[in-house]
Amino acid sequence: MKTYLPSRFIIERDPSRCIQCKVCVNQCTFDVHYYDAEDDEVRSHEENCVGCHRCVIFCPTNALTVRRNPLDYRENYNWRPEVIEDIIKQSETGGVLLTGMGNDKGYPIYWDHLLLNASQVTNPSIDPLREPMELTTYLGQKPDRVEIEPSSLSLKTQLAPQVKLDTPIMFAAMSYGAVSINVHKSLARAAAGAGTLWNTGEGGLHPELYKYGNNTVAQVASGRFGVHPEYLDVARVIEIKIGQGAKPGIGGHLPGEKVSAEVSATRMIPEGTDALSPAPQHDIYSIEDLAQLVYALKEATNYTKPIAVKIAAVHNSAAIASGMVRAGADIIVLDGLRGGTGATPKIIRDNVGIPIELALASVDTRLRQEGIRNQASIVISGGIRNSGDVAKAIALGADAVYIGTAALVALGCTLCQQCHTGKCAWGICTSNPALTKRVNPDIGARRLTNLLRGWSLELKDILGGMGINAIESLRGNRLQLRGIGLTDTELEILGVKMAGS
Ligand code: SF4
Ligand code: SF4
Repeated sequence: MKTYLPSRFIIERDPSRCIQCKVCVNQCTFDVHYYDAEDDEVRSHEENCVGCHRCVIFCPTNALTVRRNPLDYRENYNWRPEVIEDIIKQSETGGVLLTGMGNDKGYPIYWDHLLLNASQVTNPSIDPLREPMELTTYLGQKPDRVEIEPSSLSLKTQLAPQVKLDTPIMFAAMSYGAVSINVHKSLARAAAGAGTLWNTGEGGLHPELYKYGNNTVAQVASGRFGVHPEYLDVARVIEIKIGQGAKPGIGGHLPGEKVSAEVSATRMIPEGTDALSPAPQHDIYSIEDLAQLVYALKEATNYTKPIAVKIAAVHNSAAIASGMVRAGADIIVLDGLRGGTGATPKIIRDNVGIPIELALASVDTRLRQEGIRNQASIVISGGIRNSGDVAKAIALGADAVYIGTAALVALGCTLCQQCHTGKCAWGICTSNPALTKRVNPDIGARRLTNLLRGWSLELKDILGGMGINAIESLRGNRLQLRGIGLTDTELEILGVKMAGS
């Protein structure tokens, strides 16, 4: 059937620069560039281009330009080009439209409507180059009060298991199979080097990475892929995944083509079979059921590790979070609607969930009102783009953040949204052995470590500017935030004052 879809990108190859080296032919995974032997010339099927930039970056002579096809539809605010093209695709395939990465719609990004404070005459700012600045963060349940043994000044109170982070930034859940083993190696090494955590996602942990267990969050998702005693034993934190910001309310699907021999061994499923994660955890239909799983995992790990519970940010997150704390969760993870994924129905990604900023503020407020905020740490994810977002998240009430998309961008991802195809030209979202090699774990770990270091240095600058020398003093300190361009209702939910007041 002839497609009615126009090419999304136009490819221009400058003949005065092109040396016919065929690098673009070899680098492209979407069959865009090809060598025409008859004419001895490299050409392009530009209708296949997804705008991943791989060829442009690797062309040795900068001969290639890829730009958006300026083809305009007739103006129509209702029937925008994306809406028309989605209908065309479904009329040609008859299926659910799948996509990768996160929501790219123009919903408000509240981070961009929040401004941070800085000290001026009184409470002078601190120079982070000359003064020590503390980013150390402890995740886990905190006691309401602590008792000290007077004679030895040692702590009498028995603390719940705590996890120490040198920076409040962790790597988000991305499963082996959805991303390549070299991405997992990069994340694990960078987390270990930076004194933080990375997260296995729902696909288990490759035995080669057990040595990074002390920096690993091991996920227990509805499919229970790769969950066994050793997996729980090596990890530092166990995370029960109930929901995900990119696809709230629905399960996961790793196509059989991505279930290689190694992925199948790690996930404990037959090679080449689809890995289907059910939408719900089939043993959880109430807070009491959740409590049973939380305590089963605490029991299985001898009460030595915090148990996190992750949900997608949805309409009643605050009430759900309250139940999660009462079910014994030591860490609550909230994943907002801009969170990424390897594959999701586009209609879900673009229309379900709420922005993480509103969910975070409402959860933190609710837990404080109920007097149970100390009983769990709050970790958020879903659209954290830079250290400014991190600082604002912490001021809104988060203990730490997860970054997923930002980490993949550091590894080369250009947000082409083709993760579900398994053809990621950057070797990130694939289990194709040839493509997997495109991520070198040594280089990947270095790029991720640099990112964490840069953001951590910037966090210290931000804190110093406020006259604060410890991230702990920023946590939940909404007085350090002001809103701009927000309605009274939005300001009220965020719990911040209008700029100028
Ligand atoms: S990579 Fe660049 S120089 Fe090489 S064939 Fe492609 S366009 Fe020409
Ligand atoms: S991970 Fe790969 S396929 Fe997915 S958006 Fe990034 S570059 Fe594209």
